[in-house]
Amino acid sequence: MAGLTAALDLSQYGYDILVFEPNTYPHHKVCGEYVSNEVTPYLRSLGIDLLSIGAVEITEFQISTVNGPMAKTKLPLGGMGISRYAFDNLLYEKAAERQVKFVFSKVSGVHYDKDRFEVNVDGESYAAKVVLGAYGKRSALDKSLQRNFISKKQPWLAVKGHFYYEGFPENQVALHNFEGGYGGLSKIETGAVNFCYLTAYDSFKKYNDIDRFNQNVVSENTHLSDFINEARPVFENPLTIAQISFEKKEPVLDHILMCGDTAGLIHPLCGNGMAMAIHSAKLASGVIRNYLEEKTYGRIQMEKDYAKTWNKTFRSRLWYGRKLQYMLLNNRYMDMGVRVVGSSQGLLRAIIAKTHGKPIE
Ligand SMILES: Cc1cc2nc3c(=O)[nH]c(=O)nc-3n(C[C@H](O)[C@H](O)[C@H](O)COP(=O)(O)OP(=O)(O)OC[C@H]3O[C@@H](n4cnc5c(N)ncnc54)[C@H](O)[C@@H]3O)c2cc1C
Repeated sequence: MAGLTAALDLSQYGYDILVFEPNTYPHHKVCGEYVSNEVTPYLRSLGIDLLSIGAVEITEFQISTVNGPMAKTKLPLGGMGISRYAFDNLLYEKAAERQVKFVFSKVSGVHYDKDRFEVNVDGESYAAKVVLGAYGKRSALDKSLQRNFISKKQPWLAVKGHFYYEGFPENQVALHNFEGGYGGLSKIETGAVNFCYLTAYDSFKKYNDIDRFNQNVVSENTHLSDFINEARPVFENPLTIAQISFEKKEPVLDHILMCGDTAGLIHPLCGNGMAMAIHSAKLASGVIRNYLEEKTYGRIQMEKDYAKTWNKTFRSRLWYGRKLQYMLLNNRYMDMGVRVVGSSQGLLRAIIAKTHGKPIE
């Protein structure tokens, strides 16, 4: 998402842009599929209108705990429900239309020397003046770049699927917690409900089977047990990912500007990772343009400016996200917290606002 957005943004200025991506489009992806309206005006400026491909407008938020308390509020900014299958494909088609070139292969290495990059893919090497690292949460590239987080075992895994489920309101995103994790429900453009959850591996490994885990752990929350028992799956098998890292990362490394999850992943409960990926692509595109257009604006300045703006824009959101996830995974705090915010919608909205930014033009 970050890579396609930056490609689209920069394609407006006539640069030669090459995107490396191992998977052809469209494809499904593990994600809650709720995108905050923070990025709607910017996406429109790039010619991306999610409503035109059937995105569902979401205005309400609901949160519940295993032991019963539940809170609801209007979302401060609201957002849209749209599958990654449709959203990423729209970005891809628009970028291809704007002459961005694609190589459907995995990058195996990136080397910087004498103000140029060499990008290695399938035994070929490509020269580039600027490289954006927008390869998501985790990749073999992190190993070759010797990033700290990659050597640590990460205790999280995520499961996602689309379901037919009549009773779910179209304008709502719901977050329900269970022992060791939490799951989000919201509608997408096909009319199906996306159900995506994150769980601690320790909680999952006792069952080591998605159906048994759903029946024994996820279903302890009555909102989720109703869903699990009544909803009909669209996919033959759910999608899963493991080794999800929420560790701090660098926004610039070895002269590569890191974008989206490659620079830092916010906890999914905030429902803001896609908006951050898109926003970081906008920030990167801005400094890259300065660098390519202005002779007096050097590479070091571009890197410094990007790192500074990235930190200013996202660090505090990541911090709040970490604290909220800690609370959400602690049943006692969670019950207390939901009771408190349940009696004050203003407080719940203020907490949500802390993990989101203002709409970007
Ligand atoms: C369980 C869960 C639920 C979530 N729910 C939401 C939500 O509801 N709303 C929200 O806004 N965010 C959500 N997020 C976060 C969101 O999915 C990410 O923040 C977002 O996808 C980040 O976009 P990105 O471009 O950084 O990475 P991605 O979208 O992951 O893109 C990275 C791309 O890089 C490619 N790639 C990897 N390695 C290489 C390589 N070596 N060479 C070339 N290409 C490579 C991959 O194939 C991939 O296509 C959720 C995350 C999780 C884990």
